[in-house]
Amino acid sequence: MKVRNDLRNIAIIAHVDHGKTTLVDELLKQAGTFQDHEKIDERAMDNNDIEKERGITILAKNTAVNYGDTRINIMDTPGHADFGGEVERIMKMVDGVLLVVDAYEGCMPQTRFVLKKALEQKLKPLVVLNKIDRDMARPEEVVDEVLDLFIELGADDEQLEFPVVYASAINGTASEDPNKQDDNMEVLFNMIIDNVPAPIDNREEPFQFQVTMLDYNEYVGRIGVGRVFRGTIKTGDQAALIKSDGTVKNFRVTKLFGFMGLKRMEIDQAEAGDLIAIAGVEDIMVGDTICPVEHQESLPLLRIDEPTLQMT
Ligand code: GDP
Repeated sequence: MKVRNDLRNIAIIAHVDHGKTTLVDELLKQAGTFQDHEKIDERAMDNNDIEKERGITILAKNTAVNYGDTRINIMDTPGHADFGGEVERIMKMVDGVLLVVDAYEGCMPQTRFVLKKALEQKLKPLVVLNKIDRDMARPEEVVDEVLDLFIELGADDEQLEFPVVYASAINGTASEDPNKQDDNMEVLFNMIIDNVPAPIDNREEPFQFQVTMLDYNEYVGRIGVGRVFRGTIKTGDQAALIKSDGTVKNFRVTKLFGFMGLKRMEIDQAEAGDLIAIAGVEDIMVGDTICPVEHQESLPLLRIDEPTLQMT
């Protein structure tokens, strides 16, 4: 089977405050994705204003980093159990998860909740024991706790073989050895590239995309964010939007967006495996499938139980 070796899609999952944001910012910095004049406080470019304005809840954010020849898409994931549907949908967009656990605090309720979702989707987690710099850090014990939690949650044999990296996101360091730290996070980048399966390369097949989240852009209106499951799409293409009730609406793809660093940027074309956003059809909803007009085939329904769709 052909795969896209130039791409990895992962979700980052953790209990609140265990260091997801700090870790992603550090990966961005170290991958050199930032231009000198860009600042990390662009993360403050939260979707909160849009949420307030439109009554849509947009919690997930996609960050992309280029490491060598490989692009790594990192989906941030809400930890809170109220967003079970969204977490599940994100798990269907990615091929692996990075589970971040505080090396002092250990496994917490949201660690359990998000790990359970990842295991259910048969994703193989990679474990980052973060905050290894803390005086009270107890990495060996916490790894045992993580293993116990995997077993309790019914992990399969492959999932139980999770690789572990010990890190201090705040210092930008990591290592496979709990008793020392390298002065960068190369080991973590390599762990992602070596352990997360590359997406299947079926660019030649008919295009198929599923809307996992909604976003909004003041110029183009509502945007569907999701994964290209197969095929290729270009700006200007005619496409069919298949709603979950089976109705179909044809439209023209007015814009495509990819992700770079913390920003969304316009692209001309997207291919199997890419995480993108599509604009051009206003009544797009989570769960809808987009495909060629002449090859309509919808993807399975998605679970939607959070207030994402209560549009005002
Ligand atoms: P998130 O809620 O998982 O996104 O967590 P944040 O990245 O916002 O981090 C929560 C807090 O932990 C912040 O005060 C960070 O500065 C701190 N923090 C993150 N990583 C580390 C680390 O490696 N070591 C220490 N000591 N603190 C950290």
